[in-house]
Amino acid sequence: MFNLWMLDLRRRLQLFVLLTVCSILLPAHSQLVPGTMDVKWNEGSNDCTKNPQPLIQMHRYNADTFILRENLCATYEAPFIYLLIGKTKALLIDTGAVADAKTMPLAETVISLLANGGSRLPLMVVHTHGHLDHRSGDDQFRALPNVEVVPTDLESVKSRFGLADWPNSIGQIDVGDRVIDVIPTPGHYPSHVAFYDRQTGLFFSGDFLLPGRLLIEDTNADLASARRVAEFVEQRPVAYVLGAHIELDQSGKTVVGGRYRPNERPLQLTKQDLLALPGIVSGFNGFYGKRGVYVLMNQNRILILLGVGAVIVLVAIILILRALWRRLRSRAVAK
Ligand SMILES: [Zn+2]
Repeated sequence: MFNLWMLDLRRRLQLFVLLTVCSILLPAHSQLVPGTMDVKWNEGSNDCTKNPQPLIQMHRYNADTFILRENLCATYEAPFIYLLIGKTKALLIDTGAVADAKTMPLAETVISLLANGGSRLPLMVVHTHGHLDHRSGDDQFRALPNVEVVPTDLESVKSRFGLADWPNSIGQIDVGDRVIDVIPTPGHYPSHVAFYDRQTGLFFSGDFLLPGRLLIEDTNADLASARRVAEFVEQRPVAYVLGAHIELDQSGKTVVGGRYRPNERPLQLTKQDLLALPGIVSGFNGFYGKRGVYVLMNQNRILILLGVGAVIVLVAIILILRALWRRLRSRAVAK
């Protein structure tokens, strides 16, 4: 049998140093409740009537963590929705792109996962942000008892998550032995937030960071968010970064809009991707750019630019037509 006191003082000292170093380095990762991302997301179909697929694909990351995805046949956005279950409450992050419960029975699916004998856990519905493809299912939940739906406007987000010093403070949601940090991440959307689950180390990034297009409406705010998030995760373990969409295929090509995506890349990104984000956003010119696998865009500015371009072309056409008309008319008068 091993006896510590049988070792000489030098060896005991070495062992003490080794154990101390291990106790500092290891707990961060070993404390995380693990899960699996071994999942193949349904690929949709060019002809959804001939290839019917489940409206919602459900992946059980671990016993208390679910990843739901609305099928491409129901919405080309095919957003991801996350359900985290605690001891006293459950937390749903986003409600997807489809409002109609018949077309997309989201609330029914979520509630069935919370059923516990005759009772069920209260549910809190939150959002990464207020774009319609993240909150269209809200009404399905508002009608249910014991469900709180947190609105997406900035004042509601600030007050409900305790983010008085927006965007610098960090809020917390406690669902019972499971705390989720709420990190302000404006830039894509003024009241965008990300969620960090301390239990699993999952970082839910919404549209702030996803494998695909990074649509940035406010570059300065987005860059500041990227820097704050990098600082936040630096000393914390991150198992996976999970965004709200997949917009890349395996070769790194952007795939947006179609209903059939047979070759999507995986959803999950890494802590390294979060740490690299400030460097990516800081080089953004405010309109359009490609950095690594990401396409950075300011859709509003591009739309305005296209609108101005269209007006210029229209005016040019009118002027040319008027000049032609005048020339034809003067020739006719001369004859
Ligand atoms: Zn969005």
